[in-house]
Amino acid sequence: METSKELKEKLFMKRKNGVFRMSDAELAECDSFCESYKDFMDTAKIEREAVDYTVELLKNNGYVEYKSGMPLNAGDKIYRNNRGKAVIMAIIGTAPIEDGVKLCAAHIDSPRLDLKQNPLYEDNEIALFKTHYYGGIKKYQWTTIPLALHGVIIRADGTKVKVNIGEDENDPVFCVTDLLPHLATEQMTRTVAKAITGEQLNLIIGSRPFKDDEASEAVKLNIMNILFEKYGITEADFISSELEAVPAFKTKDVGFDRSMIGAYGHDDKVCAYTALMATVDCNNPLHTVVTVLTDKEETGSDGNTGLCSAYLKYFIEDIAETLGSDGRTVLSASECLSADVNAAFDPTFPEVNERNNCAYINKGVCITKYTGARGKSGTSDASAEFTGRIRRLMDSHNVIWQTGELGKVDAGGGGTVAAYIANLNVDTIDMGVPVLSMHAPFEIVSKIDTYMAYKAFSVFIND
Ligand code: MN
Ligand code: MN
Repeated sequence: METSKELKEKLFMKRKNGVFRMSDAELAECDSFCESYKDFMDTAKIEREAVDYTVELLKNNGYVEYKSGMPLNAGDKIYRNNRGKAVIMAIIGTAPIEDGVKLCAAHIDSPRLDLKQNPLYEDNEIALFKTHYYGGIKKYQWTTIPLALHGVIIRADGTKVKVNIGEDENDPVFCVTDLLPHLATEQMTRTVAKAITGEQLNLIIGSRPFKDDEASEAVKLNIMNILFEKYGITEADFISSELEAVPAFKTKDVGFDRSMIGAYGHDDKVCAYTALMATVDCNNPLHTVVTVLTDKEETGSDGNTGLCSAYLKYFIEDIAETLGSDGRTVLSASECLSADVNAAFDPTFPEVNERNNCAYINKGVCITKYTGARGKSGTSDASAEFTGRIRRLMDSHNVIWQTGELGKVDAGGGGTVAAYIANLNVDTIDMGVPVLSMHAPFEIVSKIDTYMAYKAFSVFIND
């Protein structure tokens, strides 16, 4: 006769904190892995920088730029850079390509404030940039924090200048202002959604006028003069620029125990980095491995660098044809981990989650069978069979994982790129790291979950 304790052990699901299920050696490995992740986060704040970082890392690890028609053999490592804003990498497997590829898809764009195309203006001798926010933000969170500017400007003659200002210790930063509480009587009566409006997200960039004469807009003139001297640009060049204001803070350990990491843009660079490292650490896989770090997820995946574009499909068609098959055969036999973050249970806001079906920090990488909203609308909903396969795979390699939905039914909702890949007839499931304060300027993840994401992606692509 089994005791109730034994029966519970046998029959109940285990959702223990990862720390009880990892050896000291594995915990040390986890913490050391996260140090590299922190460096990546400070180097690659925007999609273009993540692509630059990735391409350099790939080149240093024997990857070559792939051109359609290039001969391919097992063990070959290739990549394709999509316009400097998305990147696909692959390692050719030993199994026939008709057996499908192991696909990991993460995104490298994060919510932020983009500059408008005619951003610069002066108002009462203060120079400002107009912005248009990118992705789902709570606007009030983006005021009164130091912001850095990242991106590119294409000058009138077609030459490109890269911008990265606000990150170096000696750089100036920029800031969106907010009302002082003393004069916020009316503002405080508004809903949070309207406390700060989109057109109030103006970036302060200067206040000292050009000294030589008393021309109007002398502050704007002075700023333009500084920009001309630094970047060789005139005002019209902003029209052909992509400049992104992002939090200027550095990535930090969070907590006395240093168990968590605070940074801008964990969504989804925490999955992008772990998928990238799992791929770079993979050699001679059985199945061909394809990892894509995409752009534009936060605005709905449209555009030629987003996953609604055919660029991933074309890449797979290209390698399939070179290896004597065709895209649809390969895609139909493929499996994908849609590597994206999920919301972590927050003890301060417990009401939005259903405790049996949400992700918790430190309980491992989160497997999400379906996303969507209002009755699973917009989700690909992985099959029970594929979910079972992934579950077995994770368990057999001691990956600490959990399952969780994005919030209570009808509390809100959201999606990932999973549906777009599943629509190519690929078995796809969401897997990623739980995040606290998702889409805020400073998001928090657990080191254990981050490391378990790396382990999960490694296990998947090496299967
Ligand atoms: Mn995401
Ligand atoms: Mn997001």
